[in-house]
Amino acid sequence: MATTLMRNTAPREHPGRYYGYLATVAVCSIVAAVLTAAYAGSPDTGWFSVPFALWLTAGLALVAELRPARWAGLRMSPIAMVSLTYVYATMVTWGFLPALIIQCAAMTILFAQLGSSVWRSAFNLSQMGIALCAAWWTWTVISGGGPWDSTPAQIIGLLAAGMVWSVVSTSHVATAMKFRVGGSWPGHFWDWFRSEWALRLTLTAISPLLAIAATTSWWLVAVSAIPIFSVYRILQTAAAREREAERDPLTGLLNRKGFQQAVERKLVDAEETGTDVAVLILDLDRFADVNSALGHDVGDKLLMELADRFLADKPPGKAIARLGGDEFAFVWAELDGMTDPLECAREIRARLDKAIVLDDVSIEVDGSVGVAVFPHDGRDYQTLFRHADIAMDESKKRAATYARYAPEFDHHSPERLMLLGDLRRALDRADAPGVNLYYQPQVCLRTGEVVGAEALLRYHHPERGMVNPAEIIATAEHSSVMRMLTERVIDIALRQLRRWNDAGFQLRMAVNVSVRDLQSPEFADYLTDRIETYGVDASRLQLEITESALMADARRVVDNVQRLSDLGLGISLDDFGTGFSSMQHLRRLPVTEIKIDKTFVTNLIERADNAAIVSITIDLGRALDVGVVAEGVEDEKVRQQLEDWGCGLAQGWHFAKPMSADDFDRWLAQHRATADH
Ligand code: C2E
Ligand code: MG
Ligand code: MG
Repeated sequence: MATTLMRNTAPREHPGRYYGYLATVAVCSIVAAVLTAAYAGSPDTGWFSVPFALWLTAGLALVAELRPARWAGLRMSPIAMVSLTYVYATMVTWGFLPALIIQCAAMTILFAQLGSSVWRSAFNLSQMGIALCAAWWTWTVISGGGPWDSTPAQIIGLLAAGMVWSVVSTSHVATAMKFRVGGSWPGHFWDWFRSEWALRLTLTAISPLLAIAATTSWWLVAVSAIPIFSVYRILQTAAAREREAERDPLTGLLNRKGFQQAVERKLVDAEETGTDVAVLILDLDRFADVNSALGHDVGDKLLMELADRFLADKPPGKAIARLGGDEFAFVWAELDGMTDPLECAREIRARLDKAIVLDDVSIEVDGSVGVAVFPHDGRDYQTLFRHADIAMDESKKRAATYARYAPEFDHHSPERLMLLGDLRRALDRADAPGVNLYYQPQVCLRTGEVVGAEALLRYHHPERGMVNPAEIIATAEHSSVMRMLTERVIDIALRQLRRWNDAGFQLRMAVNVSVRDLQSPEFADYLTDRIETYGVDASRLQLEITESALMADARRVVDNVQRLSDLGLGISLDDFGTGFSSMQHLRRLPVTEIKIDKTFVTNLIERADNAAIVSITIDLGRALDVGVVAEGVEDEKVRQQLEDWGCGLAQGWHFAKPMSADDFDRWLAQHRATADH
């Protein structure tokens, strides 16, 4: 019903043009009807002294629209309009004006049933009035007018009139659509005509029989209602079948196909009204366990119970589907800017909170929701659906309950694939430009001395310029390019370390490594080889590992980290405190240093909770006898506080931003010169 209501609103762009068109059609219809009625004159028998059969015809036309048969199309919902048969029959037996009156009355009943707004009903009454004028003229010209006599010319004239009616009416609808949603006129025309012509032809073909009946005896009119009713029933059944094909038989919710159609209809409306649409996908956790432990019957009952929960107080702008297995999908339409789409996700999740009791067994249900919002996260169904699915995967990975789509979750978007290709080319040859490292100094808080630097990746894209390293890592991490990238980073970093060594700077180098590197055993071999090639001391190398890296396939990662540690290099736990299992990693890994994440450090003066976390982490480092580095130090107050708490090292914009190797050398020389004074 929401769709119908939306169509009753004005288009956002050029409403004047749209309403101007509607008004013109209304005026034209009145002029055309008056002229046609005047020309047609009154029937020979007079207006009211007509046989009962004609009154019966008129009455049945009205009855026919009491329960309209409609079935769902994408843009429109074709409606049978069975009354047209009676209207045509009236036109040729009784005259133009009675036909027009019956048409208007039948359509008014129809539009009331469909919930059309007054102005939309008025437009449709007008355009159908014009169509009837055109039909009457066609009939009169071909048949030569005169009372109904079932001559071949009259029958051909009537069939032609029916087709002209459809063409004229469809043209008006197509023009209104073009003003409303844009697009091409022939496209709209063809969309409508294609979905309706066969039915219209059938209704037209029945009308001569009805005309014969109406001029013969009233009981023949009554009997001829039977085939017309059959057509109506067939349409109803076809519509019901079509609706069934869009349903999931187990839960009665929409299925994948039905969901797609529901979303596409809502997107058309949203485009017109400028509202947002949220597409959400819910995937249950461990549903397979329920099936295998309690049987498929219980699994089915669980899904049905969930469907009932989701359907409870369903607002009109929402549709729910089961996509198969334990996956559900939701679409929330008509969101204005004030509604947070994540609120929809929370609402869905809240319905899983209460355990489901089936056959005396209480089952806890859990699941992850992914959200994608039109128009921000995609403009068409396919994109939105794919993005909601990606967000759902991401929320599973993070063990969160819901997540909204973000481009960095998507490892396969066209932009990412392009970036990946460009990156691969930049890494293919050792001398190809683009990939480089910046160095950010790490300072000893007690002495102010620079002890080393963190190597940070910089990639200069030929067209895009500098690309955010986080985006590069997210793009490359799921492909073999990550390996090439890390090898390049290690190579540049160790070469630089060697240069500093040769220049007499006893510095250490911190390098970030990714999940993928830590999963492959060859990584340690490569590192060993590079350390030997450049002849640097392994203990001067610090590998920064992020917690998220450790969460994937922990066993293998732990083994490889142990191997790296055995080489003699330091292991630094990066972004400490932001993950879920920092403490566990501290116990399991040969960590030599903790790096407190900048989100806790930067604002520790203003935020007491962050201050507590930082000071406790420093204490923890002392207790475990591992080093502590604070990253993201942006001002002197923070630096002083960290020093007071006994933090070992720090890095951040307060000391220096990441710099190119040359800038770093200059900065270092200057820093040392100032320190000496
Ligand atoms: P990270 O390892 O936590 O690096 C620290 C980030 O904080 C760097 O961002 C750095 O520029 C930034 N930063 C430094 N001082 C401050 C400060 O005072 N305030 C603020 N707000 N930020 C500061 P960057 O260079 O954009 O790197 C982002 C992330 O990308 C890094 O986070 C790291 O996880 C990853 N990354 C960078 N280079 C590499 C690499 O070569 N390999 C891998 N695997 N990851 C890398
Ligand atoms: Mg780091
Ligand atoms: Mg960090």
